[in-house]
Amino acid sequence: MTEIIRDKAALRARVTAWKRAGEVIGVVPTMGALHEGHLSLAQAARAGADRVIVTIFVNPRQFNNPSDLENYPRTEHQDAEKLAPFGVDVIYVPGPSEIYPDGFATSVHVDGLTEILCGAFRPGHFDGVTTVVPKLFLQTGADKAWFGEKDYQQLQVVRRMAADLDIPVEVIGCPTVREPDGLALSSRNLLLPAYARGKAPALGHVMQGMAEALAQGGTMAELGGPAEAALLEAGFDKVEYIELRAADGLALLDRLDRPARLLAAAWIGGVRLIDNIAVG
Ligand code: AMP
Repeated sequence: MTEIIRDKAALRARVTAWKRAGEVIGVVPTMGALHEGHLSLAQAARAGADRVIVTIFVNPRQFNNPSDLENYPRTEHQDAEKLAPFGVDVIYVPGPSEIYPDGFATSVHVDGLTEILCGAFRPGHFDGVTTVVPKLFLQTGADKAWFGEKDYQQLQVVRRMAADLDIPVEVIGCPTVREPDGLALSSRNLLLPAYARGKAPALGHVMQGMAEALAQGGTMAELGGPAEAALLEAGFDKVEYIELRAADGLALLDRLDRPARLLAAAWIGGVRLIDNIAVG
């Protein structure tokens, strides 16, 4: 089994030795409850760095909803078993005080990009992300970091934060891994009641249909309303947003006039699902 390190001093000692030997360190930050999506990042990191650290930390600051934090699946033992075949060097599972010691008073905020899409519905969420991620970068001494396109806005926000703070970590995005029926893998899928699990792939299917219509010249003004209606019809309880955004910079678009991304968030069975796909 892969070694698990729980305190930052021990991690630092290990990382310092690796750095001295000139090794490139890769990190895959996660909140655990690992699935094939996370494992694809571990595999990419294994191929792209000399040393790989997978971090598991359920970051309370990025939960805007206390019951979401409480219900978030925690499966450390299974996570370690799933990572075993991937040749990861260390699993870093910091206790809360390793990340937020008493008196902790700093937060990192990225303007603009965090006010739209998920940021508009999850106040404080991205501040939680952009506060913990640089800490994980510094604690792991990472040269490279792998993130999933599943959380496309998060990937853009993390890139912006690292560039703005001159953090010398290369941020690499990896494609979304899906179930055979098209549902994007997510740790929160474990929380879906059976009826909702059956209906949840409609999100990706509706988005796929929109993407094809947009590629043929359709506009969000004509496609947005019917798409939302189709999701409600398919069993979703609420659609937070379905938006076409510039792939780079996330400017709001009505039609496909540059490389773009269709992004959506919707609720089913008490679970909030997000998805996004490239368009054009
Ligand atoms: P999380 O544990 O949900 O915070 O996710 C940790 C990392 O795994 C993030 O970079 C996510 O974007 C990525 N990830 C989550 N789900 C998927 C997926 N289905 N495919 C690819 N990457 C994913």
